[in-house]
Amino acid sequence: MKWYKRLHWQIIIGLILGLIWGLLSGFIGMADFTSGYIRPVGTIFIDLLKLIAVPLVLASLVVGVSSLNDMTRLSKMGGKTVGIYMITTMLAITIGLTVVNVLQPGATLPDETRRSLMESYSENVEGRDADAELLQQRNIMQFFVDIVPENFFQSASNNSNMLQVVFVAILLGIGLVNIPAQKGEPLIHFFESLNDVIIKIVDLIMKTAPYGVFALMAAVIVDLTGDDIGQALVLLRALGWYCIAVFVGLILHVFIVYSSLFKLFSKMRLRDFFKAIRPAILLGFSTSSSLATLPVTMERVEKNLGVSEEVSSFVLPVGATINMDGTSLYQAIAAVFIAQALGMELTIAQQLTIVLTATAASIGAAGVPGAGIIMLVIVLQSVQVPIEGIALILGVDRILDMARTAVNVTGDAAVSVAVAYTENKLGPLHFDEDD
Ligand code: ASP
Repeated sequence: MKWYKRLHWQIIIGLILGLIWGLLSGFIGMADFTSGYIRPVGTIFIDLLKLIAVPLVLASLVVGVSSLNDMTRLSKMGGKTVGIYMITTMLAITIGLTVVNVLQPGATLPDETRRSLMESYSENVEGRDADAELLQQRNIMQFFVDIVPENFFQSASNNSNMLQVVFVAILLGIGLVNIPAQKGEPLIHFFESLNDVIIKIVDLIMKTAPYGVFALMAAVIVDLTGDDIGQALVLLRALGWYCIAVFVGLILHVFIVYSSLFKLFSKMRLRDFFKAIRPAILLGFSTSSSLATLPVTMERVEKNLGVSEEVSSFVLPVGATINMDGTSLYQAIAAVFIAQALGMELTIAQQLTIVLTATAASIGAAGVPGAGIIMLVIVLQSVQVPIEGIALILGVDRILDMARTAVNVTGDAAVSVAVAYTENKLGPLHFDEDD
């Protein structure tokens, strides 16, 4: 098959063309056209993916759980999944702190730039502050209370209630295992067939991914640059070291932590892993939403990496909600960067506090664009760094959001491989012609 017919190449081409068009439309005065007529194509694409997320999680998890005949295995798998998620998140933060302390990006920001950035973005910070305050008023028990819905249709009506959907699906699956097989069969068949239909729909939606990604990229670039590309470049230059620190941290995390995870818990080569989930990583990057990417991550992990549905249908939706290695790493770097830029020295104890609060903040962050920066307020407050400092980094957050989301998605997929391997549920790798 010709290289350009392969899906991931088509997505990459869409991404690059979107970037070029975004820049070009600023130059030739067509930014409004891009916002008004091209952006909606991207919005429709993301909405299609979001549309199938709840039914997909419900159907595949019910099928998965109802095929388990031993319920203790489910709780063992749950404990293991959450445990590995916590460990990879803390490692991500440690890597982030190391990189930011070595590179010291905040120290290089000229006084003048700092002042003008603070001035131009300080209004935007207020709303985020209020959002974070609401979140902060909830204690840890509220997290568990929130997992149990009082009405299933309410949970299914909002993609950000994914943990509630997971809870109901597990409950349904457990109920199905505990009634006579004959009685449960029709419902199991129903979910099996729903599951197959949805997987087919994911396939169809993915055929339009290159166009969707083109539109998303063009819209992002227009948002970033408006009609003034020069201004965007100035901003990037001023915050260049900070962006580089985040990129370096993310890359180190992927290569150190995930390759060690594979060495410990599977025989998979990092190369094969990337080859299999490429489209999901690219989608994470272009949508900035791990939740919107979830259907594609699930499809790739099951079909290509050989992770059984029992494992993936539990590990991935939970991961898309609570496991955000990229986000936590970014939060650690952002917090220290802001402190450095404001001339504050953070002690070791304060940096340890960042490990804890960034773990919690990344768990609390929803898998949607920009969630990470809202939760950053909590991290900053925990180490007494003025939250107004967020104004410094707002301008480049969209780009970093794309990169950290790609890592969030990669992390969920990597952990699903590790869990499947230890549960003896990892089948052979499989690649289609167009992979
Ligand atoms: N956009 C990220 C995600 O969906 C969350 C964040 O803002 O860091 O995974």
